Amino acid sequence: MSDAYASIQSRIRAAALAAGRAADAVTLVAVSKTQPWDHIAPVLDAGQRVFGENRVQEALGRWSERRQGLELRLIGPLQTNKVREAAAFFDVIETLDRDKLARALADEIQARGKAPRLFVQVNTGEEAQKAGVAPGEADAFVGRCRALDLPVEGLMCIPPAEDDPAPHFRMLGQIAARNGLEKLSMGMSGDFETAIACGATSVRVGSALFGHRG
Ligand SMILES: *Cc1c(COP(=O)(O)O)cnc(C)c1O
Repeated sequence: MSDAYASIQSRIRAAALAAGRAADAVTLVAVSKTQPWDHIAPVLDAGQRVFGENRVQEALGRWSERRQGLELRLIGPLQTNKVREAAAFFDVIETLDRDKLARALADEIQARGKAPRLFVQVNTGEEAQKAGVAPGEADAFVGRCRALDLPVEGLMCIPPAEDDPAPHFRMLGQIAARNGLEKLSMGMSGDFETAIACGATSVRVGSALFGHRG
């Protein structure tokens, strides 16, 4: 088995236990975007079944032929003209971040009669270049998604690279709690243990697992 994979798994379990949570409380989302297949294959062979991808087209190319038994999550921005493909292919879409996308997803879900699980992305640092609803608008946005019958199960964030991530993770947890949402997708290679201490239910780990992206 890949050493990095075993090491990340044991760090996740240790962080969960240290936070007084069950060892298996946190799902590892292995972020395979842009990685060569020879980096991904050993992790897949070792039993990893949940993968995160940033782009619809790239994900289709990488996973279509070996889709069986996997949970695939879209963790990058979704354009409304890709909603049909994304809703058909992904088990989870973590980047619901605007009303136009919410309406397009609702229409698509109604037409198909089957929905991916959804996370609302919150721009906790209110960075202009980042996607996500502003923290102050999150409650109202979650409400509008629910009014469209969208199955929102959690929140996702990507804190500003230069900040201490802990306050951002705590803020996401507070928004989730007051909206009755149980899932928190937060923490990446550099900060997943902090995220687990703050209540992450899934962490998105790429480079620490597969090596630096080219
Ligand atoms: C690329 C990416 C990750 C993984 O980042 P690493 O630092 O390589 O672990 C996690 N989440 C999102 C949204 C990403 O785009």
